[in-house]
Amino acid sequence: MAIASETQPQEKASTEVSGEEKKRWTLNDFDIGKPLGRGKFGHVYLAREKRSNHIVALKVLFKSQLQQSQVEHQLRREVEIQSHLRHPNILRLYGYFYDQKRVYLILEYAAKGELYKELQKCKYFSERRAATYVASLARALIYCHGKHVIHRDIKPENLLIGAQGELKIADFGWSVHTFNRRQTMCGTLDYLPPEMVESVEHDASVDIWSLGVLCYEFLYGVPPFEAKEHSDTYRRIVQVDLKFPPKPIVSSAAKDLISQVKNHFLLFNPQWLLHLPW
Ligand code: AMP
Repeated sequence: MAIASETQPQEKASTEVSGEEKKRWTLNDFDIGKPLGRGKFGHVYLAREKRSNHIVALKVLFKSQLQQSQVEHQLRREVEIQSHLRHPNILRLYGYFYDQKRVYLILEYAAKGELYKELQKCKYFSERRAATYVASLARALIYCHGKHVIHRDIKPENLLIGAQGELKIADFGWSVHTFNRRQTMCGTLDYLPPEMVESVEHDASVDIWSLGVLCYEFLYGVPPFEAKEHSDTYRRIVQVDLKFPPKPIVSSAAKDLISQVKNHFLLFNPQWLLHLPW
């Protein structure tokens, strides 16, 4: 497709032709279709890029709201990180543009919408379906962590489903690039003690922990540490108060996997999740 700005270098892009100007998108490049949803800072619309007819999701964010909530830096980081990731289970961010009042993100269209809604509809997923999602997530996280990117906000609301039912991680608003952070925070890597060098792995384990929580939620329909009060949830997490209710019936292999994430999440290798036994 012709959505080929500096943020989509691997496709035949006008930008790839040496000496040619980088494509600058404007709203005129798109036919706007139905609204797909509403977020905290704006709306998302189905849209078609006029030249290529490529269908995308156009996220429209209001600058005033971004400024009010002081999340401009977060958005900048999200765009910077997400636009460089290329993985079948990570939602593509093709590019962005802005006018006086709004910022527009050109996103891959996830035709089957939010995973969260699917889960609400089904109440809980079959083990087979949960295993497929967990393996997809593990693949995407292995890819991210290999690039020193930690998502830090893996939850059903941030997962979308593509036309073929494939899971797509979206919303990199809380993600960080640890390599940059290490450089800015600690200067040169050579002088760091082992525990600080190890901290990349340590940080990445945040996502693995979330993956365990998500696996539980897929199978039981509720997250494992849910409680009425925030403080109770906090306490349950700190104590790792993990219980498996009798219903729905979940295999011991699946429960064992969740427990392993719980017990060993710092050492946990997401490669294990690629070939789940159940
Ligand atoms: P957000 O602002 O990212 O929370 O998006 C608001 C809603 O728009 C989401 O909950 C989805 O229902 C929908 N949406 C966002 N991005 C996409 C996309 N790439 N494809 C399809 N629907 C989307």
